[in-house]
Amino acid sequence: MNVVKGLPASPGIVVGEAWIYTPIKYQIEVEAIKDVPAEIARFKNAIKKAEVQLQSLEKKALETIGAEEAAIFETHQLFLQDPELTEGVTNLVREKNVNAETAVFRTFSSYADQLEMLDDPYFAARALDIRDVGQRVVHCLLGIEFDNSQLPSKPVIILADDLTPSDTVQFDKQYVLGFITVRGGPTSHTAILARSLGIPAIVSAPLDLAQITNGETLVLNGQSGDVILAPSEAKLTEINHQRGDLQLAQEIALKAAHEPAITLDGHHVEIVANVGDEIDTKRAISFGAEGVGLFRTEFLYLDRNALPTEQEQITAYQKVFDLLTDKPIVVRTLDIGGDKTVPYLGLTEEPNPFLGWRAIRMIDERPEILLGQFRALLQAGANADLRIMLPLVSNLKEVMAAKELFEEAQESLRREGKPSAEQPQFGIMVEVPSVAIMADVFAPHVDFFSIGTNDLTQYTLAVDRMNERVAKLGSPFNPAVLRLIKMTIDSAHQHGKWVGLCGAFGGDVNAVPLLLGMGLDEFSMAPSLIPEVKATIRRWSVERAQQVASQALNMASAEEVEMWVQLTITKPE
Ligand code: PEP
Ligand code: MG
Repeated sequence: MNVVKGLPASPGIVVGEAWIYTPIKYQIEVEAIKDVPAEIARFKNAIKKAEVQLQSLEKKALETIGAEEAAIFETHQLFLQDPELTEGVTNLVREKNVNAETAVFRTFSSYADQLEMLDDPYFAARALDIRDVGQRVVHCLLGIEFDNSQLPSKPVIILADDLTPSDTVQFDKQYVLGFITVRGGPTSHTAILARSLGIPAIVSAPLDLAQITNGETLVLNGQSGDVILAPSEAKLTEINHQRGDLQLAQEIALKAAHEPAITLDGHHVEIVANVGDEIDTKRAISFGAEGVGLFRTEFLYLDRNALPTEQEQITAYQKVFDLLTDKPIVVRTLDIGGDKTVPYLGLTEEPNPFLGWRAIRMIDERPEILLGQFRALLQAGANADLRIMLPLVSNLKEVMAAKELFEEAQESLRREGKPSAEQPQFGIMVEVPSVAIMADVFAPHVDFFSIGTNDLTQYTLAVDRMNERVAKLGSPFNPAVLRLIKMTIDSAHQHGKWVGLCGAFGGDVNAVPLLLGMGLDEFSMAPSLIPEVKATIRRWSVERAQQVASQALNMASAEEVEMWVQLTITKPE
């Protein structure tokens, strides 16, 4: 028996035969072309062909999965019309006289690379979508068709190096027990599709696919991320029991997803979602989100040569806000830095980009960026319950400077007679230890805090969150991180302010007793995690959670806390 640990991407446990998917191999030859107009016409034809294919995939997804999932392919069609991409391709053909395949590959890859460099799993997932669309156009240029005949005709667990959304929907659902990929993240569209299809999935599983043969039995545990190769009879019996329990718990959680999360002693905790666009927002609502706790806005600033206009921003924000009438929306202002080069923003490569000129720190040299974003958000949120927060704050001066700009934005809109959000809240993210330690000093100047545990853990423990080699050291269960969370919540409450948490810790069911016990007011997470977190909260009383949290705060290591929580979570009372 051999257990390989990946990342859980879609819940459920299955036992089945392995089936390895190998995508069609092709090579792009760089060719110098002579007839530029003919090459551009070839490209335009390929775009048309790709559009037809995507329309049919959208229809298939609509019929077999649902409207929100079909929207992924609608977005893919939008990429085909995006002038940044299409003009990028035609310009390359014109200027470098390269064939269309090469130009498509280079343009789409370069855009995807930029998104990937944001070091954010959300944008890394969008990068995979761009590559998927680029590959589709190259296939159309090369005349490669998807061959259904190679697909399995009996239920199997599909293993692949990586899967694109197109691959994922093309498989006939009745023959797919689960998906396991060697690469990819839990927020990729493939993971989202798997969750919507109700198919268990694991991503980032370090498997050597060459060592696995089609037909061998394996276990996919979408809860823990474990892939068990050659399971023993005893293990299979144990797995079957777990499957039964799990199915029951999931059915109960999903049924109650739209009910509020109220503890056994009657305390209501707000459960909201992390989103990046309208598609996420619709999913969030369908999973029972009571609002949005983190709306990422970086996408608006990428792959362009100048700042987005005020109107462009308003239109983009409104698409999300319109879906959330009466529900709170926390928007995070621009959060990028020198781990990518965006010349028009003044971002250049830096030796230590996570400690460099990024996020709110841009305010000193480029106040107009934040001012413009405030103006656009306030107008787009005229009818919304708008809350705006600043990322990566590390000192009070930044907050005061940003507040001044915020008031300037409000004042200028008033003067111009433009409708804008009436009582927007102004908050900051707690991602740097200095802010948690000094939370009592910051609290009087803000309406709320939102704790970003991904960065707070990275900066507290000096563990690069992108470096897999040290990943083990970067646990938010570390009591040092927990104590900072506690200090933040206590200081905020003393000043009558509320506290949310939007890092991955907020969607971890094992963190529920700790966060509940420390008095967190709002939990924000990926949409699909909402039903289970709500169900977990309902199994706890605040009083019992407080006991568990206070013990954890006095422990010596993350491992000790994790073991303690595991013990208590099965028997909360
Ligand atoms: C965080 O740091 O916890 C957070 C929510 O922001 P991001 O993951 O986008 O850095
Ligand atoms: Mg962060």
